[in-house]
Amino acid sequence: RFEGVTMAPPDPILGVSEAFRADTNDAKLNLGVGAYRTEELQPYVLNVVKKAENLMLERGENKEYLPIEGLAAFNKVTAELLFGADNPVIREGRVATVQGLSGTGSLRLAAALIERYFPGSKVLISSPTWGNHKNIFNDAKVPWSEYRYYDPKTVGLDFDGMISDIKAAPAGSFVLLHGCAHNPTGIDPTPEQWEKIADVIQEKNHIPFFDVAYQGFASGSLDADASSVRLFAACGLELLVAQSYSKNLGLYAERIGAINVVCSSSDAAARVKSQLKRLARPMYSNPPVHGARIVANVVGDPALFNEWREEMELMAGRIKNVRQKLFDSLSAKDKSGKDWSFILKQIGMFSFTGLNKAQSENMTNKWHVYMTKDGRISLAGLSLAKCEYLADAIIDSYHN
Ligand code: PMP
Repeated sequence: RFEGVTMAPPDPILGVSEAFRADTNDAKLNLGVGAYRTEELQPYVLNVVKKAENLMLERGENKEYLPIEGLAAFNKVTAELLFGADNPVIREGRVATVQGLSGTGSLRLAAALIERYFPGSKVLISSPTWGNHKNIFNDAKVPWSEYRYYDPKTVGLDFDGMISDIKAAPAGSFVLLHGCAHNPTGIDPTPEQWEKIADVIQEKNHIPFFDVAYQGFASGSLDADASSVRLFAACGLELLVAQSYSKNLGLYAERIGAINVVCSSSDAAARVKSQLKRLARPMYSNPPVHGARIVANVVGDPALFNEWREEMELMAGRIKNVRQKLFDSLSAKDKSGKDWSFILKQIGMFSFTGLNKAQSENMTNKWHVYMTKDGRISLAGLSLAKCEYLADAIIDSYHN
């Protein structure tokens, strides 16, 4: 019976927050989970979200079940936000969009589709990647293997390794790509590199599978951050795209996102959508409505949409400022001559410091800086005021 159940290990990312809460030291910093904080290190609810919620109250919206595929107004705007409203894939009705339980739930639904319709097909994931990707494919019983991505020597992209591993995979594999702001490295391919990746994927008959968790949050521009996905769609490729509104609208706990499947015909899209619904029904029946209404209201209203873009630029800008200050502090304090410029080359919410497991443990045990053991820090949880302290901690951990 239950006596035989063993203790599961803590989650490598969410477990960090648990340890942080238990630490009573005043200097403690939580750079583990990727959640935006203000300069005062407080959680932030976007003004546009509050306005959208007020609208919902005024309208007296009900709490009836949504259809299995989610809120129609949400599904429409989310696909348009991703591809651009005038994209041929939208105009031709070739995208099957189903509302999901944020990015994670949308990835999980896509994994279930792969398991059912492409049995035995492999998903290629980057090494390293967001830790939950492996859990998702394991639980969905989808085989996966890794392609080279991060080069520790340059703290940059191992582009040749990436291309040759994608080429070497069995034809018709799925290739999981981070649309922008790669997690955990913060290292993205250049536009020219994206083109080459699309070429190789097309040559090999692979199916690109994008995880877009940071649209608008990486560069501050919704369009720029979707350019990788749009490039692949313009090549005529079929593709999968999981979206999340956790970061860009700060809707972490609302669990709002979507899975989009770009097909080669509108007929195929209708069939794929019907199968996604069939997979969702026994898993969770239908998705929650609150976050979907917020997104539909914000994206669907020109005034709120513009305000959202301003708030997103503000958040992305704050992260860029702490990135710069951290680099400045490290460069000024570190007397070893180490080149820290890789920090400025990374984008998005994270920085991959290059600290190894033992050094990351020193950060936590000695300096009360909570972070994942792969050396990733969330800059969204850092303030300008704490940059010097963090730089001291990093330098101490590197050199000891
Ligand atoms: N993919 C990546 C790469 C992420 O970083 C995250 C959030 N950390 C997600 C997906 C999903 O997050 P959520 O389920 O909150 O949308």
